[in-house]
Amino acid sequence: MSDAAALDNPLLKPWATPFETPPFEDIAPDHFLPAFERAFADHTAEIAAITHDPAAPDFDNTITALERSGKLLSKVASVFYDLVSAHSSPELLEIDKEVSLRMARHWNPIQMNAVLFGRAAALYHDRASLRLTGEQLRLLERTYTRFHRSGAGLDEKAKKRMAEINERLAHLGTAFGHHLLADEQEWFMELGENDFDGLPASFVAAAKAAAEERGMPGKAIVTTSRSSMETFLKSSARRDLREKAYKAFVARGDNGNANDNNATIIEILALREESAKILGYPTFAAYRLEDSMAKTPEAVRSLLERVWKPARARALADRNALQALVAQEGGNFTLAPWDWRYYAEKLRQAKANFDDAAIKPYLALDNMIAAAFDCATRLFGVTFSERKDVPVWHPDVRVWEVKDKAGKHKALFYGDYFARASKRSGAWMTSLRDQQKLDGEVAPLIVNVCNFAKGADGEPSLLSPDDARTLFHEFGHGLHGMLSDVTYPSLSGTSVFTDFVELPSQLYEHWQEQPQVLREFARHYQTGEPLPDDLVKRFLTARKFNQGFATVEFVSSALIDLEFHTQPASASRDVRAFERRELDKIGMPAEISLRHRPQQFGHIFSGDHYASGYYSYMWSEVMDADAFGAFEEAGDIFDAATAKRLHDDIYSSGGSRDPEAAYVAFRGREPEPDALLRRRGLVDVPEAA
Ligand SMILES: [Zn+2]
Repeated sequence: MSDAAALDNPLLKPWATPFETPPFEDIAPDHFLPAFERAFADHTAEIAAITHDPAAPDFDNTITALERSGKLLSKVASVFYDLVSAHSSPELLEIDKEVSLRMARHWNPIQMNAVLFGRAAALYHDRASLRLTGEQLRLLERTYTRFHRSGAGLDEKAKKRMAEINERLAHLGTAFGHHLLADEQEWFMELGENDFDGLPASFVAAAKAAAEERGMPGKAIVTTSRSSMETFLKSSARRDLREKAYKAFVARGDNGNANDNNATIIEILALREESAKILGYPTFAAYRLEDSMAKTPEAVRSLLERVWKPARARALADRNALQALVAQEGGNFTLAPWDWRYYAEKLRQAKANFDDAAIKPYLALDNMIAAAFDCATRLFGVTFSERKDVPVWHPDVRVWEVKDKAGKHKALFYGDYFARASKRSGAWMTSLRDQQKLDGEVAPLIVNVCNFAKGADGEPSLLSPDDARTLFHEFGHGLHGMLSDVTYPSLSGTSVFTDFVELPSQLYEHWQEQPQVLREFARHYQTGEPLPDDLVKRFLTARKFNQGFATVEFVSSALIDLEFHTQPASASRDVRAFERRELDKIGMPAEISLRHRPQQFGHIFSGDHYASGYYSYMWSEVMDADAFGAFEEAGDIFDAATAKRLHDDIYSSGGSRDPEAAYVAFRGREPEPDALLRRRGLVDVPEAA
């Protein structure tokens, strides 16, 4: 690229925006490839300077130099991936294919660089005599381990094969995600005049908005977004339509069309197994879990089985109750998977006399945002004020400036809350810039993306209880990024083990369901009335309801993930047969399906981040239930001393400490799973056939 072109590329210029944020209005898709090109070249030169350094390796010329390298690359990549996920276009998705390939090609020689590894290894072996700070020691250990685990110590032939495998895996992971997105975008079910039986007004409004967005004004559609689908399955009285919708939902990525993911999965599993064996591990799971808090597949299986048994028993007991309800209503059919949510909701309404529609008017999005902010202020002293002068990637995105107790700038927080066709499904936290202070303070730019339904006709967006929980969850991740207080960028914020990363997010959900918080912030959007006490009580009772189902859905998915990565890849040549076999083995109730069938399991196949790591949510849940207990024991959900420990040991320490040590420092002991089983109502479950 010529220098003139570089000058025109906003990704390569200093950003003259408030807080030096990405100038989204100026960035166009065709800026990315040239910017990546330049970023790769810069990074390669920085790495070469380290490997060609004639001086003997020391912490500064090797480890710190590595931390300083790749700034432009992370700058360009974080903007790019934010857009690809939250506001994509066919053009960006096409570029993404090229970028993922180039990323793998760029990173492979760095991660497998024998000279870098040699320098890091020499320092690692001398670590006791280097007089490092705790954070520096942790950084050295992490850097050494990363090189070791990516194969930097292998011979050339093995390295070459590893590079091929990684490149292919990067391609397959991207393809998996694109297939899924395409299947999700293609499918919708139009609701005819007589198809609205049982659907709440908020759902109808969202269904109309979704149709409008797809160029069908005046119509209403069900889409495969989880919130559209789950609300529909829960409330539609039309069994035939529920069946149709459900079948489409669980068939995503498994339709035998151009978006089919079965072959992709088979190839991914074979390549992961091969790479684990090259690195000297018996299975991919063994390789993967060595670098986690859990450490071994056996430890993971043991936790999951401990939860599976009571969860399954609870689900079977619940199933019998649902079948009885079907009979009671004169239904002459056996409960099917598309009936579960519908009858569970009826039973919940009967038992807790509660339905989501009753509480939604109290859960306006803005009120829940205010609640999430307020809890953070009370716990950690941070304050939030909205900024209208920061560029965003879509007009719906809002930005807040975050200040610490002393009024000093701490972070920016971007909230992108509404569903749209250009956004992938789900909810997530990401960052446009991570906190660090290697060469002066760098304040983080933290992003939350959700898929809430927009309010129709000028009405505010009203959240379901699950949506409100999601908002707190992602905001908990957000705090992990915003409160980060580490020196080195690679240890910043959420750069922690996968089975630790859900602790700050899941823990934060606890505050959302506290009566004290609900009474203050859950106010009726029209009258301003606080959520009545009676409704709070029923809401909290309802939360425990159907936990057998939710736990079975989750744990079965986590077990399938573990089996995919512990059994030989040859065992899963027929993905559907593998799925059936494994579900039979654990006695999966026929009326419940996996939360993520393999062909939709983006967590483990669209990239390898959660591969043999889906259990992490449950691992973290053991910790979050146990951790919130510290506040309960203190008798105050905002107890200052407990909150300070939580801030210092968990939310601000990023990856700068060993997670187990950090947890023990906060809690005074190891986590115990009893609080989780109690919270999910899975103790003292009656026997059921
Ligand atoms: Zn999360």
